[in-house]
Amino acid sequence: MSTAGQQAERCAECGGQSLTRLRMTLGDGLPVVFVSCHTCEGKAWFRAEGDGSALTREDVIARSGRRDRKA
Ligand SMILES: [Zn+2]
Repeated sequence: MSTAGQQAERCAECGGQSLTRLRMTLGDGLPVVFVSCHTCEGKAWFRAEGDGSALTREDVIARSGRRDRKA
């Protein structure tokens, strides 16, 4: 019953379906799917595992910031 990987069939901003999906890992190790819209350049992030819920931009920035600790 997992919905992971099926996030964002359409852009939340403009409803466009021309999206780029990139699997990536945030600085704190959280696997996410980064979605970028070709039409309006809107960006969104979703958890790649678990409930597939969306992350806010602030959440992503906060998590990515930990990358600074990597030596
Ligand atoms: Zn869009």
